[in-house]
Amino acid sequence: MREDLYDVAIIGCGPAGLQAAIHAASKKAKVVVFGKLRKSSLYKAHVANYCCYEKPISGKEILETGRKQAESFDAAFVDEDIIHTKNENSLFSLVTESGENFTSRTLVLSIGVSRKKLGVKGEKRLVGRGVSYCVDCDANFFKGMDVAVVGNESAAVTGALTLLSYARTVHLICRKLMVTNILYDRLRNSQVKVVEDTWVKEVIGTEEVEGVLLKNGDTLNVHGVFVELGAKSALELAANLGVVFDAETFSFIETNKKQETNIPGLYAAGDIAGKPWQIAKAVGEGCVAGIEAAEYAKKLADS
Ligand SMILES: Cc1cc2nc3c(=O)[nH]c(=O)nc-3n(C[C@H](O)[C@H](O)[C@H](O)COP(=O)(O)OP(=O)(O)OC[C@H]3O[C@@H](n4cnc5c(N)ncnc54)[C@H](O)[C@@H]3O)c2cc1C
Repeated sequence: MREDLYDVAIIGCGPAGLQAAIHAASKKAKVVVFGKLRKSSLYKAHVANYCCYEKPISGKEILETGRKQAESFDAAFVDEDIIHTKNENSLFSLVTESGENFTSRTLVLSIGVSRKKLGVKGEKRLVGRGVSYCVDCDANFFKGMDVAVVGNESAAVTGALTLLSYARTVHLICRKLMVTNILYDRLRNSQVKVVEDTWVKEVIGTEEVEGVLLKNGDTLNVHGVFVELGAKSALELAANLGVVFDAETFSFIETNKKQETNIPGLYAAGDIAGKPWQIAKAVGEGCVAGIEAAEYAKKLADS
């Protein structure tokens, strides 16, 4: 168990997470980074305003170089989403989508922001009236009801599995599942009703959600629609940790100048810590978070 104890765990391998990894690992902390490079919002971008790159450079190139750099300092990478986090006895436990467990003295959340909505008729109007973006926050409101989860990735599958403990029926609407074999098997062996090769065309309802119209022409009569696109969102991961979000929009994690959150040993950096959503800010905050987390871990280890 002791061998598996990391000093710094970093969720997210965009510019904030990579820079945190580089700085923490260069201070000889034992570092592990989770996430998928291609899921960084930088991956498909062409960048012309990042210092020292006069000619436009591809985001993919920045990310791939950053990962190599972090690996050269011995940071370990796990190309998987984290689906569960817990903070117990001053340690953070993390579970990946294949069910592997990791433990760390500190945690850096650099998971970017999700800009993803379904963008279909009825969705915006029915937010909070049956449409939700956070299973872990809202599952309780749907006890005994029929619900649908929409998404192809780990957040949708784990969300659907979680909802089985609350809802009467859980449908998972997906185009094509993109999850690890272990998660796929858990889903197939569960009571979740998987509706594949289609997508939501419209969320139906006047005052509250009454159903969803699918692109294949079918209608599902449900009272809840959970939009779970991509990986577990900050809101969901943070819900278990008790992290404080900004009071105004409830979408950014509050930090101080050391990138510390309200939880000792927990740091946030990059887009998830607020605007402007820019690489320069992400790497700056990642640098601070990486250094601070490494120092905090060292103090814990020495105490
Ligand atoms: C089209 C586009 C163009 C842009 N152009 C520019 C530009 O020219 N200049 C500029 O400065 N900025 C630009 N940006 C913004 C820039 O990409 C972001 O500010 C920057 O990528 C933020 O870095 P980040 O590390 O905070 O988050 P991201 O780069 O978004 O990385 C988030 C990481 O978190 C991971 N993650 C999320 N959830 C989980 C989970 N549950 N488990 C594990 N991992 C998880 C993802 O896999 C990803 O690796 C652009 C953005 C877009 C979308």
